[in-house]
Amino acid sequence: MSQNKQFGTKLIHFGGEIDKTTGASSVPIYQASTFHHENIYEPPEFDYSRSGNPTRQALEDYIAVLEGGKRGFAFSSGMSAISSAFLLLSAGDHVIVTEDVYGGTYRLLTSILSRLHIETTFVDMTNLDLVKAALRPNTKAVYMETPSNPTLKITDIAAVTAWAKSHGLLTLLDNTFMTPYHQRPIELGVDIVLHSATKFLGGHSDVLAGLAVTADDALGRQVKQLQNGLGTVLGVQDSWLLIRGMKTLEARMSHSETSAAKLAAWLTGRKDIANVYYPGLIDHPGRDIHEKQSRGYGAVVSFDVGSGERAKQVLNRVELPLVAVSLGAVESILSYPAMMSHAAMPHEVRQERGITDGLLRFSVGLEHIDDLLADLNQALSG
Ligand SMILES: *Cc1c(COP(=O)(O)O)cnc(C)c1O
Repeated sequence: MSQNKQFGTKLIHFGGEIDKTTGASSVPIYQASTFHHENIYEPPEFDYSRSGNPTRQALEDYIAVLEGGKRGFAFSSGMSAISSAFLLLSAGDHVIVTEDVYGGTYRLLTSILSRLHIETTFVDMTNLDLVKAALRPNTKAVYMETPSNPTLKITDIAAVTAWAKSHGLLTLLDNTFMTPYHQRPIELGVDIVLHSATKFLGGHSDVLAGLAVTADDALGRQVKQLQNGLGTVLGVQDSWLLIRGMKTLEARMSHSETSAAKLAAWLTGRKDIANVYYPGLIDHPGRDIHEKQSRGYGAVVSFDVGSGERAKQVLNRVELPLVAVSLGAVESILSYPAMMSHAAMPHEVRQERGITDGLLRFSVGLEHIDDLLADLNQALSG
């Protein structure tokens, strides 16, 4: 069907875009928990909405097509997708994880899965030798996130995956920041791709959702068993909203990325900005690797305004961006990692990782870039 088409075409013609029964121009919202058995000997395709629902199924098939994987799964949040996937592991297993992994994933590993005796080693994955050195006899999986948050460090996906495969390890990757528009990890050998669809995929700051895609059917069956067994499914209305949001992914991402590149260049040209982090900048240490594995640089730019005092001034003075946690929406979102996403991290650890008191993270939305720059200019002045 849509396998040979360009990404933008797949976004619109993904297979479920026309309702088979009525020809309706969007997937119907099957607001039902259960399904009638016409004939007890021939159970219907869907029998109970935790185990399967046609609206959710359309979304799950959609993300599988976009990521180039076999099976897709929709969960009640990004963390719901991530925690369900981690439960592929058992007590006594060990997993190697990107050191600057998403805060919620860090908490899941260190305060919940640790109680179930699933062990974690966090490593700086910009250095493959450190990944290799973390291998133990009970290592079962490698979990990547690239670019990482908030300093946009790059992991060489193909290199880590090739090494992991040679040791029989499962590979998982959180693709939230890039989305399948920019980066398709399954093509680079990753086994399971995960998303907080709350961000760019949904794109409108109005749905909380998670997605997972497996590279093959066997893993798909295991994830299905977890999704159904744990009951971590996405609701029907939210499934429909997410499909609606995803149709404009390319239009939104490409617009925001163009603006993000301009923002990064503008910030780099200012003398009063200590550091700018964006994989598209010529001096970004991971740029070459990123360009090998991704078709773009995304819409998130982090920058250091020099001090916590100044960061708070900017946060209080900006008029256009939402000042909030989260990212990846039509409206720009300005976050303050030191007091928001990374507040729980000890001060020294934060400093070491470049998450200084002056660091701000800008998720560029769809406003005109000239207005965003003018707003930021007035917030940085005075
Ligand atoms: C937001 C986010 C998550 C968690 O997703 P929720 O939908 O908030 O549960 C996971 N990974 C990354 C990179 C995120 O930005």
